[in-house]
Order: sequence, then structure tokens, then C-alpha cells
Amino acid sequence: MTRYEPADSFETPRFSDVRTFMRLPNTRDLENADAAIVGAPFDTGATFRVGARFGPEGIRSVSHLLRRYNSSHGIDLFDHLSVIDYGDVAVVPGYIEESYRLIEEGLAPIHRAGVIPVVLGGDHSIALPELRAAAAVHGPLALVQFDSHPDTWDSYFGMKHTHGTPFKRAVEEGLLRPERSVQVGMRGSLYDASDWEASRELGFELITTDEVREIGIPGTIERIRERVGDAKVYVSFDVDFADPAYAPGTGTPEVGGFTSREVQELVRGLAGLDPAGFDVVEVYPAYDPAQITALLAANVAHEFLALAAIAKKSSR
Ligand code: MN
Ligand code: MN
Repeated sequence: MTRYEPADSFETPRFSDVRTFMRLPNTRDLENADAAIVGAPFDTGATFRVGARFGPEGIRSVSHLLRRYNSSHGIDLFDHLSVIDYGDVAVVPGYIEESYRLIEEGLAPIHRAGVIPVVLGGDHSIALPELRAAAAVHGPLALVQFDSHPDTWDSYFGMKHTHGTPFKRAVEEGLLRPERSVQVGMRGSLYDASDWEASRELGFELITTDEVREIGIPGTIERIRERVGDAKVYVSFDVDFADPAYAPGTGTPEVGGFTSREVQELVRGLAGLDPAGFDVVEVYPAYDPAQITALLAANVAHEFLALAAIAKKSSR
């Protein structure tokens, strides 16, 4: 069996080579992979700024800094995982339903092969076809969503598919188990008080930024773990969960958010859950001075690979 891992950065420098994620091989050999990095460069589901079509490229570029060992978990990712950079799924800019069809079709073989995808967005509208592809194999999933917005609005401009609506659609389509799902980090000005109520009515648990501040990071992790339990879980990370000081290059930034350190602690707290897939979305390189946001996103993807490695290790 072929095992895929990053190029050795003691042999050739990290700034060299074509920009795949972490210098991983660019291949579609799913048979010999445990996890796959996949770009989904669709961004015309966005309601304000656009530019997340360059998110995968931006994240891959700065990901060459990342090394293979996760010191917090004490784990070498590639001792437990064979990982490929699958490339990007197809999209059609400006045509969301056609892009949804292509993204779902692109991710389906990955789930069918038992490979865990780590999807690089793209705006958050791509979560819907991601969940369609995942649920087709795993059945309805628990969701852990880190985001300053719940993305459960009904429609924008009379349209049902935007980056503000995917999780309402996902519940309507039966792709999620709301009673096992939790949305973390909601904050900022709202259209009105019903914005968050809509999520609770769908059955989600909401832990707002104010509540995280009250119960602390460990208390938040405990609530997430209690909610998800042993369910198959999809973890979706919108970079606007972080404060704009740590993630300025995004579509709808909200002040008063989390540091990159707090982001790491929260994601690390998910170790031991049973993941079906991951994404990190809403990186807009054109608004991203010094690659700050892309660097955070690359590190979140690295933490996701650690969670996948821990799951793989314990399933042996
Ligand atoms: Mn979002
Ligand atoms: Mn958001």
C-alpha cells in the first residue's frame, strides 16, 4: 500500500514546490488515502464581499509552513494517516445550483471510499452540498459549527441558497441531527432578535460568544462533547469565528471574537469525536494582509487532520 505524506523539508526547503497543502502529493488515489484535502472555490453565494474563490489557493500557499507533528496532542499526523491533496472540485461561478450539483458529485467518491475530506472553501454556501455528499454515505449527521453567524436564515433577496442559509436547508433536507448539533460563537449586530431564535427552532443548540466568555473554553468544549456524544459529526469552521484581528480576510467580519490560540484550544477539545468530514471556509485572500487569515485557516485544517489521526488511531 502506498502511503502519502508531505515532502521532507530537511531535504528540500518548505518554500519550494508547487503549492499543495503541506507539500502533500496531488493525487486522486482514494484507495490508499485516509484523509483528503479538497478545495471548493465557489464564492458567489456570498451576500456582501466576494473573493473566497481564492481561499483554497491562499490556504495551500501558506500551509507550506506547517510541520507534521502536532505537539499539543503528541501525535505525528502521518504515523496514522495517509493524506492526499485531491485538488479542487468543479464549480461554475455565479451558478449556485449547478455548483452544488458539482460539489456534491465531486465529494461523493471521497465519502464512498471511506476517506475523510478536509474541504477548503469557498464561501459557507458550500456546506450544503458537502453535507449532502456526507449524509448520502453516513446518514444524518451531527454538526459542530464555529461561526459568528448561525447561517440559518431562510433566504436573501428572495433566494434560498446563499452563504447565510445552508444550515436551514440542511435541516429541511434531513441531512443533520439537530438534537446532536451545536453552533458556537454567534455574536455581532443582528437583523432582529429572531436571527438566533430561528436556529433554536430548528433544534440546534447555540452557544453565543457571550456564553463562551461566561463558561470559558473548557466549559464550552464540555457542552459540545456532551451534545455530539458518539454521533458521526461534521465540523464546519467559518474563519469569521475568530476576531478580525486574527482573521481580517473574510466576508462578514464581526468584532469581539476569538484569538487564534482560543481557536486551537476549542478544536483540540474535539479529540475523540467520530468525524465524517471537516471544512474551513470564508477565507478572502484579497482582504488578507500578510496571509493572517489563510495562516489561521491552514492551522485549523492541520488541527482537523490531527482529529482524524486520533480517530484513526483509536479505531485500530
Ligand atoms: Mn458561516
Ligand atoms: Mn460567519
